[in-house]
Amino acid sequence: MGRDSRSNPRSLHRAIGLCYARPVTSSALPPWPALVATARGALWRTPDGTIERLSANDARLRAIGTLPLVCHAPAVAARLGLEDLKARDLLALFAFVRPAHFCLPTVRGLCEALDLDVPATSEEEVAALPEIARALIDELEDMAALASPEMKDTALAMSRALAQGATHAVLDNTYTTRATRASTIEAAKKQAAKVRGIWLDVPLHEAQVNVIQRMLEAHGRLLGPEELKKQRDNTGLTPLSHFRTVRELEPPSKEEGFDVLETRPFVRAPRDGAAGRFVAFEVAEKLERTDEPTFVFAWTEADKAAVEVAAQRLGATALICPHGGGPPTCWCRPPLPGLLLEGCHRAKLSPLWFVVSGSTETHQMLAATIGARFVTV
Ligand SMILES: [Zn+2]
Repeated sequence: MGRDSRSNPRSLHRAIGLCYARPVTSSALPPWPALVATARGALWRTPDGTIERLSANDARLRAIGTLPLVCHAPAVAARLGLEDLKARDLLALFAFVRPAHFCLPTVRGLCEALDLDVPATSEEEVAALPEIARALIDELEDMAALASPEMKDTALAMSRALAQGATHAVLDNTYTTRATRASTIEAAKKQAAKVRGIWLDVPLHEAQVNVIQRMLEAHGRLLGPEELKKQRDNTGLTPLSHFRTVRELEPPSKEEGFDVLETRPFVRAPRDGAAGRFVAFEVAEKLERTDEPTFVFAWTEADKAAVEVAAQRLGATALICPHGGGPPTCWCRPPLPGLLLEGCHRAKLSPLWFVVSGSTETHQMLAATIGARFVTV
């Protein structure tokens, strides 16, 4: 049945895949329709195996929403007399999985290259497309299983894009070290792809605000030290792990293999929301009540009951970090900006339009971090 392992340059690879106890044929067929052009129109295979005959224009319309599997999309489009065709091109996926391997740009050619049964009719060709997709995706999973975690994510992300007919892949990651970038750049070079790097230069305080905003958007509030310890995704970074990342940061250089490398400064988009004022507990007694939304903020070293009394006098909400001393384990201890950002988030206000009233350098730093104006009281 054409399964001569000597003719398959990747058979060793597959054998290694088997060592990882990954059965070669157990994966399901991908859930996409398939399309071939014939002398009289198109053959369309639905994911349940039904094969229909369609006009070229019907095939084009149906392809727009479903991205069928095809072999060599430009050739299929030309044969159907179409300007373009939205599809998942298996030839592109083949080129990704086996760069620099030759394959005739036909369904038969792909089957030969992959040791699959070679189709004799158009019906067999359209039925072979999902089999080809499965074989290539399995091979890709084998490659990924042998690669590093970064490589795996990159390879899978790129392949998904290419399987959907993309010619460009955008990889959005923190990539804070040379090592994390190296495998991605190497993978792109293997595809003879050009690598364009865009480095967003984010100052530490803006990065802190981003971490906190992400947490507030995901959880609706700041997570406490115990919750942060358990959080596994990027919506619950601890202040210490964030500092560590910043300390280990290696800005990229062109010599790493970038064809183009740009650095762009981080610019925060203005946020909707009304103005208000933040008042440091230390100066609260010097201020008067106004109509503006007001928050009184303090760290635990202050007396909690006294903070609440001061807030009440100003018609304000009290914001208190209840966590102890030592290295910061929470985002709410000033001068970290969590308390203030959480207050704004809950009240749907914008910190950019706030005034921070305070007396110390910490208060001033807080104001600068959230982009608010500072007033010494
Ligand atoms: Zn705290």
